[in-house]
Formats: sequence, structure tokens, C-alpha cells
Amino acid sequence: MLKVCHLYPDLLNLYGDRGNVLAFTRRCSWRHIPVQVYQANLGDKIDFENFDFLFIGGGSDREQTLLAADLSRQVDSLKRAIEDGLVVLAICGGYQLLGQYYQMPDGRKIPGLGILDLHTHSGSKRLIGNVAVEIELAGKKIKVTGFENHGGKTFLNGVAPLGQVLSGNGNNGTDHQEGARYKNAFCSYLHGPLLPKNPALTDHMISLALERKGMDSTIVPLDDSFEEEANGKMLERLGVRR
Ligand code: GLN
Repeated sequence: MLKVCHLYPDLLNLYGDRGNVLAFTRRCSWRHIPVQVYQANLGDKIDFENFDFLFIGGGSDREQTLLAADLSRQVDSLKRAIEDGLVVLAICGGYQLLGQYYQMPDGRKIPGLGILDLHTHSGSKRLIGNVAVEIELAGKKIKVTGFENHGGKTFLNGVAPLGQVLSGNGNNGTDHQEGARYKNAFCSYLHGPLLPKNPALTDHMISLALERKGMDSTIVPLDDSFEEEANGKMLERLGVRR
């Protein structure tokens, strides 16, 4: 059984980011891979090493301030789990929280968990719009699409980007990098939610989680014509070759 932890589902759910958990679990269920979701809320004690997939969604500055202290109480367990290959998807605010700090427009700094070597500064101009990114999964390049809306501009210090921006802003609108990737932790600014119209990324994460758990990681193909069409339409709209 794959155990999924959905962190702060009521606080970090901007733009329907919970759809990422639905996409992950449905694509498991359609393949008869047993999967169970645990919702972890503010104040809960969480043993991250007990999970196979962790999802952290996006939130406003206010929510991030609220839960940064809560999450910092369990940083050791999360750090150990990520070092041990826990598959993580962290979107926008959830992504920012894994870094060193998030500096808000008024200059106040929300301390991050310091797990990923990156930091975020929030400016006056928000980065908003549809985005296309080229990422590489198991040696294969794919184009993913999503929607960004963030004031924070993230700068990677020692961690690799998730991919290269083909259209849109990405991490900061200047270095053409989007997201971050460290071991099996995938971070991105892409809402949408990200996974439903990027099935190859979802399946890659499922396969990594199965492999880490010692389960058969063969991923039976599904009919993704609808998802691919949605992705392709957005690439076309952004003037990016499919
Ligand atoms: N509050 C953060 C920012 O504005 C994250 C926003 C989000 O999660 N979409 O950058």
C-alpha cells in the first residue's frame, strides 16, 4: 500500500492544488495499486518517514506564516525522509517553505525549513500567467504546463531546477529556471493543478514511490489522450511546439 500524506489541506489549497493528490491516487487506483491518503493538519505530529508520497500545496503569505512554525517542529523527520528518497511534490508556497527563508513584501522573513538550498524574496510585482516548462524525467525530456501566481521570486543556490522555462516566468522571471529538484523532491510554481494535465510526471512519481517501497514499479500505460490534449492545447496557446 502506498501511503500519501497531504499536508495542511485546508490551509495550503490555492487554485485547487488538492487536485494533485487526486491525480496521484486515481492513477494508482486505475492500476489497482493500493493507496491511502492521510491528511495532516496544523498541530498534528507527523512521522514523514512513514509515508511514500508527500504533497504540500500553495498558500497565501498569511497561511505560510501560520504553518512555518508548526512545520519547523517536525523538520528533522522531514529532512531524514527526503534524504531517504521520500517522493515529495511541493507547489509554490509549499515549495518556498522547504528553502532557507521567504521574505515578504514588508521585509519580514518567514524562516524556511532549510532543507533545500534556495531562498525567496517577494516583490511588488506578482508573476502571474500560464507557463510551459521543459523537464527531464529518467533521461526523457517532456513539456509540462501549468499556471503561476506568486509574489515570491525564488533563487536556487546549490539545488538543481526542476526544468527550464519555455514560456512564462518560473522561479523569478529572470534566470529561466522553474522549480527545484532534489533527490525525489519535486518543487514547482505550477498550479493548475499541475499533475492532472501532466500524466508523465504523475506516473514518474508513482514509479519512484513504488521502487522506494520495494513494490513492482512497472507502470501500466493508461489512455492519456484527454490529458495530453489539454497539455497540447496550452502549449499551442503559449506558442510552444508540442
Ligand atoms: N504566498 C506565496 C507568494 O505569493 C505563495 C503563493 C502561492 O502559493 N501561489 O509567492
